[in-house]
Amino acid sequence: MDEIDTANERAELMTNMAIQVALSRQPKAPSSGVCRACGQAIEAARLQANPAAPTCCDCAAEAEAEHQRRRKLGGRG
Ligand SMILES: [Zn+2]
Repeated sequence: MDEIDTANERAELMTNMAIQVALSRQPKAPSSGVCRACGQAIEAARLQANPAAPTCCDCAAEAEAEHQRRRKLGGRG
């Protein structure tokens, strides 16, 4: 039954292509949904705004505050 084999192969090829297309449509390095800093689940709204967000809102705000603090210190520490 060569015909069936060919059909199966073609179906497999189509599936592979569909997977490739689906993967290429995804944003690069999508977030795991878990904050890298505190391990809590990242807010759904945050993931919607930034699908690659590595941290939750709290940690992002904290990192930003820390960044501002360092800038105010003038890089002497
Ligand atoms: Zn966090």
